[in-house]
Amino acid sequence: MTADGGRALSGRELLKRLIFDSYPEREAAAVTDGLDRLRNRCVSLRLNPLRGEPEKTLLELESYGLKPEQVGWYEHGYILPGAKEAEIVSLPAYLEGRIYLQSLSSMLPPIILKPNHNSDILDMAAAPGGKTTQLAALTQNRARITACEMNRVRCERLRFNLRRQGAGSVFVMETDSRRLDPFLSFDSILLDAPCSGSGTVALSESMEGFTELLIQKSVRSQKALLKKAVELIKPGGTIVYSTCSILPAENEEIVSEILSCGAVELDCIDAEALGLPTVKNRLEGTVT
Ligand code: SAM
Repeated sequence: MTADGGRALSGRELLKRLIFDSYPEREAAAVTDGLDRLRNRCVSLRLNPLRGEPEKTLLELESYGLKPEQVGWYEHGYILPGAKEAEIVSLPAYLEGRIYLQSLSSMLPPIILKPNHNSDILDMAAAPGGKTTQLAALTQNRARITACEMNRVRCERLRFNLRRQGAGSVFVMETDSRRLDPFLSFDSILLDAPCSGSGTVALSESMEGFTELLIQKSVRSQKALLKKAVELIKPGGTIVYSTCSILPAENEEIVSEILSCGAVELDCIDAEALGLPTVKNRLEGTVT
């Protein structure tokens, strides 16, 4: 990949180019503007009902002069205008697992999965556990959750977060999810796939690691993992596929390819009902 003069594109230039190749100009400008402002976004958190009463935790946060504001689409999702992450991570509510710092968009996949109590749930790419602990909270620790993570260090972090958050219904497997035994089956599967991270990088950063190769590697792993998810889902079950990438190659194209096999169908997400700002993407019924 080279710029006009034959010079290799920097990660930043590459991402900008891919965004403008992927979206109409207005959308592309909104996306790059969003990435430019990523560093200044509000701290957001999830109240954890598995550790104490959320109402009491809210009062506790207010007693520190914080001003938590609930988001409209999730009772336990809050932003903290004006707060700094560094000041939150030393609070007892954080250290004792009553709150979990989590970006708002990353709270969506577990909500969309709508996990049931007394069901078998698989989280295929779990660490550090933001969504696993949310799944445990949404099911009040009454579902059987299997959380897979293949990276040993990240797996330790996952175990730590599960303990801290009181997510006792989770069984951790340090394994490559692509190798899960086809004998297993689940009612709900969350595949929060490894990705290029293109939706979470501030464009002001140097982005040295962002390359075509990283995208290709991510796509290969996303396809294999989603194929595995289809193999492991029970008839009538639900798979949610999510990434923190903004690129269609890692999102709609992965989903479209698996749909074309005919083994699963798309259960459309009503983005308007969620009341969230979205970018128009190439596969109706999915959300970017
Ligand atoms: N869902 C997590 C959360 O909400 O905290 C974030 C997951 S992160 C996007 C992807 C994770 O998948 C990484 O920790 C990575 O090590 C792991 N991973 C990548 N490929 C995997 C595979 N084949 N099997 C299991 N885990 C994998």
